Amino acid sequence: MRITFLGTGTSHGIPVIGCSCPVCQSTDIHDKRYRASIMVEDGDTTIVIDTGYEFRLAAVRAGLKKLDAVLYTHSHSDHIMGLDDLRVFTKEKSLPVYGSKKTLDHIRKVFDYAFSTHDWPHECVDKEEEDAIRELKKHNYGLPLLSANVVNPYEKFRVGSLEIEAIPAMHGLMEVFGYRIGPFVYITDVSLLDEKALMAIKGCDTLVLGALRERQHPTHFTFKEAEEVARLSGCRVCYFTHINHETSYEEIMRRYCPLCMSSYDNLVLEV
Ligand SMILES: [Zn+2]
Ligand SMILES: [Zn+2]
Ligand SMILES: [Zn+2]
Repeated sequence: MRITFLGTGTSHGIPVIGCSCPVCQSTDIHDKRYRASIMVEDGDTTIVIDTGYEFRLAAVRAGLKKLDAVLYTHSHSDHIMGLDDLRVFTKEKSLPVYGSKKTLDHIRKVFDYAFSTHDWPHECVDKEEEDAIRELKKHNYGLPLLSANVVNPYEKFRVGSLEIEAIPAMHGLMEVFGYRIGPFVYITDVSLLDEKALMAIKGCDTLVLGALRERQHPTHFTFKEAEEVARLSGCRVCYFTHINHETSYEEIMRRYCPLCMSSYDNLVLEV
């Protein structure tokens, strides 16, 4: 299974607009971060977790050609606003998206038009228009066409060759989903994992955890908190993601290696 980090930054991305701090001004490519998202490939199966603002840019950069499903962690805008660009994958058939009921309900509110087939708004005036409309209709008028699949906490489901388990976690007061895919676990935007969730990630090989910065935050783990979870999980290696501009890639590597590392955009892992 191959994991590609499409984005590893917090909601602002890095550089932050107009910011002149050292990390935003850094020339190290590891300090350029799109909004957090990953691509998982296994044989013929390709999935993406979250589609933030830079989904199109990241997908082009990573060479994404086919997509079997999208898993959503939650519906904050930095995780969903690239959704419209999924339409290139829905020309022939709808694309399944997975998430909790709450997450999918909210996404459906924001992208109402992406979950249903459409009809032409007026009667066709002649045969020529009718033919043109029929042709357009085949591709749902160029709109994305997604099918919503509600997943419950700890439910296991399959996409192609991948068996996936939804792991609930708290992001402040909001429940989000992380996902376990065999030896790999991805949980971002998290400030608390309960005992049951910890058991569910126990013994994984590679853990990707949202870790915002050194200072405390009400809805995200600090690096230290994430490191502690990594230790409790018994993982071989943990990559921080959803990182903000207060700490450079190089500083994180210096402070938290070897158990924890900083992910970076375009990092590819074989798990
Ligand atoms: Zn986020
Ligand atoms: Zn900055
Ligand atoms: Zn969030």
